[in-house]
Amino acid sequence: MSRLVFPVALAAQSGGHRVDVEASERDVRPQGVNESALRSVHVSGTLSAMDQDLMFRGTIEGDYEQPCDRCLEAARKSVEQEVVWIFNPGPEPAQTQTAGDEDGEFDADLDSERVRYFEGDTIDLGPHVWEETVLAAPVKFYCRESCRGLCPTCGTNLNEGACKCAREEDVNHSGLAALKDLFPNLPSEAKEE
Ligand SMILES: [Zn+2]
Ligand SMILES: [Zn+2]
Repeated sequence: MSRLVFPVALAAQSGGHRVDVEASERDVRPQGVNESALRSVHVSGTLSAMDQDLMFRGTIEGDYEQPCDRCLEAARKSVEQEVVWIFNPGPEPAQTQTAGDEDGEFDADLDSERVRYFEGDTIDLGPHVWEETVLAAPVKFYCRESCRGLCPTCGTNLNEGACKCAREEDVNHSGLAALKDLFPNLPSEAKEE
C-alpha cells in the first residue's frame, strides 16, 4: 500500500491527521503513465474531516531532474506548491470531470477549482500529488542560470572552457580586419563572387 493512502478514520480524529511523507516518483506515478522529470516529492500538511468531506491542506514540494536545456548536464529544480484539496465522498461521477483530456493533459484552470473524490475507508493522495507535480513541473531546466551551453560546432561544454572553434573564428576576424587595414581599397565582396 502506498504511503500516501490514509484511513479516513485518521482524518476524522480531532485536529486531523498530520501528513509528512517523502515519496519517490514511482510511488505517485499512475500505472501506464510515462515517466516525468519528477524524482521525489515531499508531501506535508494536515488531512482533516469536514462533515462528510475530507480536506488536505499542505505543501507539495517536488524535486525534478532533467538534462540542462543548454548543456545537457543534469539539472535539478525544486518547486513548492501550497494546496487545499476538498474531497467529496465518491464515487467520482463519470464524464462530468474534465481533469484530463484525451492527451492526458490537465487543465490548470479547472484543476484549481475542482472537487475531488474519495471512496470507502481510505483516501489515496498519490494521484492528486502526481497531478499537482505534473502541473507544477518546470518548463525550462538549466544546470545554472549562467550556463554557457554547448558549442554548436564541436559540442564542447563551454562551461568547462572555450573550444577551438571560438578561437579560430576570432583569429579569422582579426586577420581580415588586419588585411583591410593594409589594403583599404580591397573590395570586400571579392571573395563571395
Ligand atoms: Zn547547463
Ligand atoms: Zn567548438
